[in-house]
Amino acid sequence: MSKVQNPSFSSKLLAWYDNHARVLPWRDDPTPYRVLISEIMLQQTRVETVIPYFERFIIRLTDIFSLAKISDDELFKLWEGLGYYRRASNLKRTAQIIVDQYKGIVPNSVDALIQLPGIGAYTAGAISSIAYNQKATAIDGNVIRVISRITGNKKNTTTSEVKKEIEKFVWNRLPMNRFGDFTQAMMEVGAIICLPNGTPKCNECPFSDECYAFLHNQTDVIPLKTSKPKRLVEELTVFIYIYQNQIAIRKREEGLLSGLFELPNEQGKFTHAMCEEYCNSKGYRVSNIQMIGTSKHIFSHIEWKMNGFLVNLESDFSIEHWTWATKNDVLNKYSIPKAFSFYIDWFLLNR
Ligand code: SF4
Repeated sequence: MSKVQNPSFSSKLLAWYDNHARVLPWRDDPTPYRVLISEIMLQQTRVETVIPYFERFIIRLTDIFSLAKISDDELFKLWEGLGYYRRASNLKRTAQIIVDQYKGIVPNSVDALIQLPGIGAYTAGAISSIAYNQKATAIDGNVIRVISRITGNKKNTTTSEVKKEIEKFVWNRLPMNRFGDFTQAMMEVGAIICLPNGTPKCNECPFSDECYAFLHNQTDVIPLKTSKPKRLVEELTVFIYIYQNQIAIRKREEGLLSGLFELPNEQGKFTHAMCEEYCNSKGYRVSNIQMIGTSKHIFSHIEWKMNGFLVNLESDFSIEHWTWATKNDVLNKYSIPKAFSFYIDWFLLNR
């Protein structure tokens, strides 16, 4: 990494932030509780997506005590569509620990925060600095990209060695105060100015006079692109079982999306004939089966390729683990992940 001597790094950054910070709901009133919720929601998720979820969440769960007590079903319904649902379960566990061990007060130190479920080094640094103005760094992918470009770092940024170098660079440039604003300003530059994929807005950037990548026309090669591991592809057949305008859903008990409701499904891509045979083998009394279409959903490490069938059932029967849901239940009561939205939308529109 080349050396950049710039004593006014933080003052340039903060002056830019004072003039360009976006108005965001969690910035109006950055109480520790609101910062905790926003930082967990912002993990792997864009600001624009988070805003309506944050606003709804804060209205329903006004403090850490209400979050600690909420039922899992209601929590998942509030989180529905935001993805990475484990964040929601971890957030509730974190709230319970804060209520039990910290009298409901979100801890202020990185060391204490990092012990809580779902809170890693980045989130701990962000909460500590933004909510309590503690001296802490928060290094995420955005910050790594910005600093790599400024310093001309062409090494593999996924290694812990390079992450430590970047953290040290940032630590050495923290201001005397305004630690929270510094953290938010770094995030803001990464989010709205120093964009990934070779399209940064360098002419609007507070660091354009010193940035190695900009001055050497290398924003498209810094940071170094590393190949991501290939996603696993899984084929699934999804069943839209309907009886008297109600749809069958079931709760996932473990693994990906556990605790949420899903449409019954089986591994593999069934044909119409296989679907008939399957229903017969289960003893379901079927009036007709109709193919609905294919859909896919991409998770961070896995891709589902789905094939869906409408199965109209002739008689009422209860099947272990199934819940019958009306349209109203689907909209307002049960949390069904986005992965199934193609088929759920079909049900809402056509039944
Ligand atoms: S000058 Fe361009 S590449 Fe450098 S930090 Fe700013 S936006 Fe990023």
